[in-house]
Amino acid sequence: LRKRRRWCRCRLLTAPSPFRSLDQLPALRAHGGPGRAFLGLPPALALVASARDPCAYAYSATRRGAADAAAVETPAGARHVTPEGYMEVIRALAPDAYVALSDEVPASARADRVRRAVDRSAEWLDRCLAAAPAGAAAFAAVQGGAAPAERARAARAAAARAPALAGFALAGLGTGESRAERAAALAAMLGELPRGKARLAQGLGAPDELLDAVAAGVDLFDDAYAVDATEGGYALSFPLGPDDPANGEATSSGLGATKSGGGGAEDGANGTAAVADGSGEEDVVAGDDSKLNLRAGAHRLDARPLVAGCPCAACAPGHSRAYLHHLLLAHEMTAEVLLEAHNATHLARFLAAARAAVRAGRFGAFRAWHAARRRRAMSGVR
Ligand SMILES: [Zn+2]
Repeated sequence: LRKRRRWCRCRLLTAPSPFRSLDQLPALRAHGGPGRAFLGLPPALALVASARDPCAYAYSATRRGAADAAAVETPAGARHVTPEGYMEVIRALAPDAYVALSDEVPASARADRVRRAVDRSAEWLDRCLAAAPAGAAAFAAVQGGAAPAERARAARAAAARAPALAGFALAGLGTGESRAERAAALAAMLGELPRGKARLAQGLGAPDELLDAVAAGVDLFDDAYAVDATEGGYALSFPLGPDDPANGEATSSGLGATKSGGGGAEDGANGTAAVADGSGEEDVVAGDDSKLNLRAGAHRLDARPLVAGCPCAACAPGHSRAYLHHLLLAHEMTAEVLLEAHNATHLARFLAAARAAVRAGRFGAFRAWHAARRRRAMSGVR
């Protein structure tokens, strides 16, 4: 499992889809260095290139007369991209790892379409590997829609190429499948994949989805949850685990003024006063047990950081909830920059807590604690 552990320690940065770089090939080649130097990335981040952009998902489709190419939208318009064309971008970008081009289908795809996607993805994987630069770490994309039998068949095809691979991307998830369908798809794939290679899940989002996947045996995630929260004006604030010193703070503050309780000097200085002053924003819910809605007037005078003790670029320097609220309402881009820094950091800290629980042999209790917390929140019991 040594190789798998090496990837498990990584904090990944997904490059914008290589499709977006198709028209930038001359600039990438002229730069000459690896993509991480081009982007100025610190060594702690591993750069991964994948055709699926979790922040702007559009599954690749094939068209009549172009069965050996993915039909994709690029900033310069629609293009057909062959595995060889895709690998040209990978060669120029030189990421730490890449996910081979595959024929992505959503969970709702018809059975014959899913079968074709599985066959085509296996053929495209071979063509990507044949065109790959030496030393490139490759992940095979495992498709199969919501059909467990096709998921298992795709996983067996990918596993047969394992010696040439660093790991496997569990692709086509988060495309409308139910929780039960996803669990069945994950089990079907993971049952066929070798244990010593990294498993990357693409398309999952919420923390409970991530814990489900970790329990199933997933190591890495390509996740748009932090970006989606940022775009909604939310700051993630759920407790990281039972040992989180901030545990309880997030739930009491997250519901905003009318339910914050406590009534101490700190509370009195923020949400309660703001909502009661006739600001006209009383109807905007200030958040829930998992996140703060920073557009809500309840945060207008709140001097606290988003999450106490958070080391992110928003919390560590002492930027307040009131300041973030102001930036959002003023449509300042700094609001999204700071919020995304916080949300990405919070999610990374949550996964670090999950890793610590796995190492300590108490992941089951960690997962059960989060599930119980969510159940209490959903039923309104605190
Ligand atoms: Zn923060």
